[in-house]
Amino acid sequence: MFLSNISVDAAHSAIIQHVRPLTVISTPLRTLNGRVLAQSIVMERDQPPFDRVTMDGIALCSDANVDSRQFRITGTQAAGAAPLMLNAKDHCIEVMTGAQLPIGCDCVVPVERIHIDHGMAKIDDDLSLTPYLNVHRRGSDSSKDDEILRPGTHMSAAEVAVIASAGYSEARVYLTPRIAVISTGDELVEPGSPIEAWQIRRSNTYALISALNKYGFSNITDAHLRDDPVSLRTKLSAMLEQHDVLILSGGVSAGKFDHIPKVLNEIGVTTIFHKILQRPGKPMWFGIRDDGKAIYALPGNPVSILVCFYRYVLNGLRQAMGATKFQVEHARLTDAIKSHDQLTCFVPVKLNNSQAILPATPHPTRGSGDFVSLLGTDGFVQLPASSAPIPSGTIVPLYRW
Ligand code: AMP
Ligand code: MG
Repeated sequence: MFLSNISVDAAHSAIIQHVRPLTVISTPLRTLNGRVLAQSIVMERDQPPFDRVTMDGIALCSDANVDSRQFRITGTQAAGAAPLMLNAKDHCIEVMTGAQLPIGCDCVVPVERIHIDHGMAKIDDDLSLTPYLNVHRRGSDSSKDDEILRPGTHMSAAEVAVIASAGYSEARVYLTPRIAVISTGDELVEPGSPIEAWQIRRSNTYALISALNKYGFSNITDAHLRDDPVSLRTKLSAMLEQHDVLILSGGVSAGKFDHIPKVLNEIGVTTIFHKILQRPGKPMWFGIRDDGKAIYALPGNPVSILVCFYRYVLNGLRQAMGATKFQVEHARLTDAIKSHDQLTCFVPVKLNNSQAILPATPHPTRGSGDFVSLLGTDGFVQLPASSAPIPSGTIVPLYRW
């Protein structure tokens, strides 16, 4: 027996419980975006791997105590070169951002704060030399062998940067599902083809493909099937062989031509649930084949397919890709709105960006070389130039990663 007329939460849980993660593969760095990690990422070296110069300037010794504040330039240390050595306290070495701090030096004075004349660098009088001034200390962001990312992490730019810096040329991820988006209905006509007054444009497929693309799903086949049980049986069977997931629209209600649930059962798909106590989208059907292939059969109305896609199918697809967390954003209603006494209702809203301000907690990095600190952040905010701290509660522009 399958579940029928179940709650929205029960439908979501049934999907999460039945959908199994797909096969794990190794894939190169440039194909990691949008996927879910199936392994731990361990740091190859300390990060930064050496005391790293953060400004173009000169490196010297902070306890040099040279009255004239003038230092002889004895060499140039470029990024990527083996470190030079400082031979005397009244010497200095020109350094470039990203270089290793030369041996015997412990601080860097930026080029804007020195004056060079005849091979001598004079430091501004008001600048005090302190240890590790303008130096990004070795291991200050993370240490060798730290587990920097865990399995189940959803990857975007920051994660990919960290995986690359840890020395991995590829990582183990879950496969992205091969998805077939299938519309059914004899009344449907392809956009661009002639149409009779009593026919309907086939729009659901394009809406679903667009929603799938937005979330990084691109391995999609698109098909249209007639409301004929015989051809539905053959064609759906064939589609199941070539795809991991089928998303169907139409044919799941109680009409005379709604053959989908019965046909799916006949080709070996087990019904997990049929009908959810919701509006729109009440007739939604979900089933699984023995080999784990998932079939989401959505009622055909264009609003229903989108609501059901975002509320259920997207989470099922993410589960198939190994995701472990399903976060829900919240918003505040600005007006009262009628619901239904027995059905959960999904109501489109317009977000008022000037009022619905998301709280943002600052997670500053330790400098622009510290990309490890980007992990776990969602984006960044733009702060105005100001000598005083920007007060808590200030509304600032947000840019999501
Ligand atoms: P059904 O779920 O098959 O009973 O369809 C419900 C309603 O959605 C009917 O008015 C259909 O014409 C419409 N519909 C079904 N599939 C699509 C589609 N792919 N594009 C646009 N409308 C559709
Ligand atoms: Mg139909």
